[in-house]
Parts: sequence; C-alpha cells; structure tokens
Amino acid sequence: MSSSSQVLSSQVWPAGISRGADGVVRVRDHDLRDLAGQFGTPVYVLDEVDFRARLTAWRDAFDQASGGTARVFYAGKAFLCTEVARWLRDAGVGLDVCTGGELEVAVRAGLDMSQVLMHGNNKSPAELAAAVGHGVGAIVVDSFEEIVRLAAIAEAAQVVQPVLVRVTVGVEAHTHEYIATAHEDQKFGFSLTGGLAMEAVRRILRLPALRLLGLHSHIGSQIFTTSGFEVAAHRITELLAQVSRELDATCEVVDLGGGMGIAYTELDAPQELQVVADRLLEIVRDECHAQGVPVPTVWVEPGRAIAGPPTMTVYEVGTVKPVELEDGTTRRYISVDGGMSDNIRPSLYGADYTCALVSRFSDAEDVSSRVVGKHCETGDVVVRSAMLPGDLTPGDLVAVAATGAYGRSMASNYNHVPRPPVVAVSEGTARVIVRRETVDDLLALDVT
Ligand SMILES: *Cc1c(COP(=O)(O)O)cnc(C)c1O
Repeated sequence: MSSSSQVLSSQVWPAGISRGADGVVRVRDHDLRDLAGQFGTPVYVLDEVDFRARLTAWRDAFDQASGGTARVFYAGKAFLCTEVARWLRDAGVGLDVCTGGELEVAVRAGLDMSQVLMHGNNKSPAELAAAVGHGVGAIVVDSFEEIVRLAAIAEAAQVVQPVLVRVTVGVEAHTHEYIATAHEDQKFGFSLTGGLAMEAVRRILRLPALRLLGLHSHIGSQIFTTSGFEVAAHRITELLAQVSRELDATCEVVDLGGGMGIAYTELDAPQELQVVADRLLEIVRDECHAQGVPVPTVWVEPGRAIAGPPTMTVYEVGTVKPVELEDGTTRRYISVDGGMSDNIRPSLYGADYTCALVSRFSDAEDVSSRVVGKHCETGDVVVRSAMLPGDLTPGDLVAVAATGAYGRSMASNYNHVPRPPVVAVSEGTARVIVRRETVDDLLALDVT
C-alpha cells in the first residue's frame, strides 16, 4: 500500500515522469536521485521531450485551426535561454520578447529576427533601436510617446517598421473568471474607450517609417475558458472594422496574446489545446464576417502553457518541524533548500502547487504539511498545504510540479542564494542548459 501522494497525476507532472516499483521517480528514465547527486539541489529538471512536443502541438493546433495561416510566438518571459530559443527555431515557433535582454538571447541564438516580436509598455530608446536594427518582425506599440520615438528611430535607420497596436479591450481574466468592463485601470496599451486606440492607429498611418500590421490584445494569465477571448475578439474586430471604414486601412494581423492556463494542482482543468485553437479562430472568423471585414491572420503568444508543465523543481528536505497551532492541532513544516528565490509565485500571488516525495517508497500515511523555503521571510512558502508521507525526513527529495514558467525567469538572489541550474532531460541525456550560479557570480558585481 502507498499513500495517495505517491500517485503522480499526468495532469500536473511532466509527460516523461514515472515512479518505479522502488518508489523512486524518474524522468525519461533518469533517476531523480542521480540527477540531484550530479547537479545538486535545488534543481529545475526540464523534460525536453515534453517542452518540444508542446511547441509542436501549439504550432500544429493553430495550423489546423487556421488552415496554416495562424502563427505562434512563444512568450519568452515565461522562461528563456539560448537553448530554448533554438528549440523554438526547430519547431517553427516565433519568439515574443519585451526587453533588450530577452532580445539579445534571440540574437545570440541566431534566430531569424523576422520571427521575433517585441512588447513592453516602456521600451527604452536603446531597446527600440536594437529591435529595429535587428529587424524584428513586429513591435507592439504601447503609448503615444512610443509611436513618435519609434518612428524617429526607424526613420534614422531608414527602415519601415511593422507595428501592432496594443489595445486594452476592457477584459481582465484571471483563472476561472473574467471581467469585462468599459474602462481598464492598468498600464498597458491604448484603451478603446475615448477612442485612444483609434487615435493611435490614425497617428501610425500618418508616419511613413511605421507600417500598421495589426492589432494586439492580451487579456491576462492562467485563463481556463475562451469566453474572455470571445469578448476581446469581439471588441478588437469592431475596432478593425472601424479602422477599415473610417481610415481605409487594413489590419493583416490580430494578435490575441497569451494567457492559456495550466494545471498546477488536480483542481485545475485546462481545455484541450485543439479545442482552444479551433474556438479562437472561429471567434475571429465569426466576428469579422459579422463586421463585414476580411479575416486577418491570427497570432497567439503562449508562455506558461508551453514552459510550465515540462519542468519541476527538485529540493532536498533539511528539517521537519511539527508546530502546534492555536486550535490544538499540529502543522508539519518541511523546510527545503530553496524557496522564494527560485519560485516567487506562492509569495507573490498565493499560487498553489503540487509536490511529492520522489526519492523513495513510503507506505506511511499522508500528513498535512507546509513546505517552506530557507529564506528569512515568514511568507517564504513553497506549497502552503500539501499531503506528504508522515515519515518524511531530512535528506529526502521532494519535487514541485509545473514550475517551468515564471520560476527561473522570476528567480532572485534574495539572501545571496545562488539561482539553481536548469537541467534538460531527454532519453539518454541530461545536460545543463542554464548553469547554477556560484557565490563568485554573486560577488562579481561588488566593487571592492
Ligand atoms: C505574459 C504575456 C504573454 C504570455 O502569457 P502566459 O500567461 O505565460 O501565456 C503573452 N503576451 C503578452 C503580451 C504578455 O504580457
């Protein structure tokens, strides 16, 4: 008999995971104890086969839904390094960047820059100049200042820069719900209200150094239904029709952004990818037909849905401390050798995760536990409430599932903790694609 926490749900864990009869968890047949021994803990273990399969699945699903016209741009902010950029190229998926740093990864990886998009609400002149200089496929403009700034940069470089207009459509989506409003109180884009988005289009059309490619909308993150996208697509095609009617201009592209949700726990139920792809394309087609405008090319920008599920974080347990609560019950605190520096999402958003003992078999009853990090903060929580075997002990390895998106990319050096490596695992190979930071790395910036 084993405790229920020993069962690894395929909904949340990487595709290549399995637990042997000995209770030890393997990814693509690599024993996690061996990986921990070789690369140390904490370590991000990335199932490369799963990651690449997700890239291909997104490309195929949107190809199928659109008859081959739609395009997928991976949102690099979820997790980006040179090797991942190469996987994008192999899969025929573009890249979405939002800073000069992310842009430089694309450059160093040798990506075709026409397959790169640049976002950001406050790109610096240097970032804009770099993007224009490298010939990125599109820049998503976000403010009236930026339109002027970018036009001057493109003119000086003697290029005509394709641009998308970031439109705030008054839809805000988080997890299971979305809110549709007329106004939106946030920093991104041009609001539909008050005709600001329309005015942005008008100004772009007057500038010969800019070419209006289309409209962009990103409504939020970790979204499980397409209803929010439906409202967004409706509002954006209304604008598209207005642009065509009043300004006699065509928008070739409608970019619906990212935000498709993943399962962090078994309670999360993302829709099937092909269903999402079909539905998004159908919404845009229907809305365009209703507005009497040509159907644009659809672009999407998934980040989390590609990078999240293939990666887990493996930690070593350091201490196990029963803490008596006011109501007389006991909570077991399990301290691991990482925490908010390698995964800020629980402290930042109250995000929930699934974790499991992965280094051995246990037939002990599950005990309600809180997995915490090693940082000097009470809020340094890894998993707020987890059921883990009652015999958990220092030296055991626990893994946290679905940490690939916004884990390493939001990692910090809080408390001078070096950031963990990312190890990409496939059949027969396990290799470091981002190495572990050292204390020397941390001190390299100190002026002594
Ligand atoms: C964050 C972001 C994405 C990706 O969001 P996910 O939730 O990771 O899919 C895509 N586009 C834009 C503009 C974003 O800001």
